[in-house]
Amino acid sequence: MSEAEDLQGRFPIVVDGKTGALLWRDLRTLKLQYLIPVSRIKKFLEGLSKGSLYGTRCPSCGAKYFPPRVECSRCGAADLDWVKVSSEGRLLAYTIVNVKPESYQSHQDYPVGIAEMDDGFRVLAWIKCDDPRKLRCGMRVGVEFLKRDEDGLTTYYLKPLDD
Ligand SMILES: [Zn+2]
Repeated sequence: MSEAEDLQGRFPIVVDGKTGALLWRDLRTLKLQYLIPVSRIKKFLEGLSKGSLYGTRCPSCGAKYFPPRVECSRCGAADLDWVKVSSEGRLLAYTIVNVKPESYQSHQDYPVGIAEMDDGFRVLAWIKCDDPRKLRCGMRVGVEFLKRDEDGLTTYYLKPLDD
């Protein structure tokens, strides 16, 4: 038995497929938590609490961003303008999520979609509907706001208007 095999037998050690190096495989489950500075998205959060979505628009080239960005990735301009996003649009694409991330394991399968709002912003969000089989690309959708039961946080979702 080689020294490596001996170590693998006694510790949670795996061999890196590319380099052959021995790697310790940590057995703890890591919880990740992100801290994001609020100052640059304050307008977005204020809008959310008042029932409006805000995106940003580049004053130089006109590119629109939702979720909002502070710098234009198309032309590099900074200090983009805040713009209220239209509350209605058309569903461009959707899917039903049935392989869920660990934090959503307790949820039923849920539809997620991208809508092109009437002013050209594109919004990605959960879709609330009684029957996901009734969803169609091109159908009219609106943005609605909701205080989630599980954590009391405000979020937005898309809702078919043709229901
Ligand atoms: Zn730009």
